[in-house]
Amino acid sequence: MIENKNQSKTDLSQLGEFGLIEHLTHNFSIQQPSTVKGIGDDAAVLSFNDKKTLVSTDLLVEGVHFDLAYMPLKHLGYKAIVVNLSDICAMNAVPTQVTVSIAISNRFPLEALEELYEGIALACSYYKVDLIGGDTTSSQKGLIISVTAVGQTDESEIVYRSGAQDKDLLVVTGDVGSAYMGLQVLEREKQVYLVNPNSQPDLTPYDYIIERQLKPEARTDIKKLLADLEVKPTAMIDVSDGLSSEIMHICKQSKVGCNLYEEKIPLDPQFINTCEEFNIDSTTIAINGGEDYELLFTIKMEDYEKIKGNPNFTIIGHITPEAEGVHLITRANTKIPLKARGWNTLQNNED
Ligand code: ADP
Ligand code: MG
Repeated sequence: MIENKNQSKTDLSQLGEFGLIEHLTHNFSIQQPSTVKGIGDDAAVLSFNDKKTLVSTDLLVEGVHFDLAYMPLKHLGYKAIVVNLSDICAMNAVPTQVTVSIAISNRFPLEALEELYEGIALACSYYKVDLIGGDTTSSQKGLIISVTAVGQTDESEIVYRSGAQDKDLLVVTGDVGSAYMGLQVLEREKQVYLVNPNSQPDLTPYDYIIERQLKPEARTDIKKLLADLEVKPTAMIDVSDGLSSEIMHICKQSKVGCNLYEEKIPLDPQFINTCEEFNIDSTTIAINGGEDYELLFTIKMEDYEKIKGNPNFTIIGHITPEAEGVHLITRANTKIPLKARGWNTLQNNED
């Protein structure tokens, strides 16, 4: 379906490891004052003065976390960076540097890696983070990418998962569920393509949800938005595994309970239409689907007026004492215990 039309193939052995690293990374320039030394020595050197440093890492394995049948390599590179920046945002910090390590089988020509690094470069330039190093090695089978993101902020601004308190309001940015339905559409089209390689799918009705899957964005804008409103979240996490699972994390680490209101969950109309077409319950997907990379946080009740009506934020519930448990309040006003079913469980594979 989404095929690489670029027929030119340069065998990696023509460059050698150092030639390859140089080829892939020579166009990256330094954008952050905290980067003293980037690529090129045994280690990068960073200097954050009086700020706290945050580090987060992720590993992406072909066949487990991505499928190159519908994930163009450029998008994969972009997404690999974004998902790590999202983790730094979830601490209310500013991402500043990344390292990228890759293990590649000889199935990949140089042109494929160039595409991957185009996506990495696009994300680095859009989010103003520096690529400061990585590692390059071969793999027996498939592609493995590991990204480590570094960020900074004042100690007083860091938000942990553990700070939610009784009566706090539960807030989410953007909308949820779309990335998961985007994946369902792509999976369906892949099956159609396998049967009939000449089929030309019309994906226009699904453009938003597919973009949410293939080109997610990290909410680097939220830290400033909240600071301008003079709101500091009491707890925060990013929505990578699904709303339900993330709410459970906050509740467990903060030792609180929560009521989530079904009618409040922000859904995109295209998401709702696609759920209807697939005959799946939109709430189930909105709660258990993952990879939205929105931020989920709690705020003090006193801050309600400051975010009320702001299109970036939706209040979807409130924190309760731990003994009350974690529940979904349905439109019919019934109370159902929330389970931490991440999207991986829906998919039936391992995280
Ligand atoms: P070492 O032998 O010390 O591991 P390498 O030869 O692997 O060093 O790497 C040389 C430099 O290139 C280092 O700065 C390293 O961080 C960087 N580097 C290696 N692989 C990559 C990559 N895939 N992407 C970005 N930088 C890389
Ligand atoms: Mg190395």
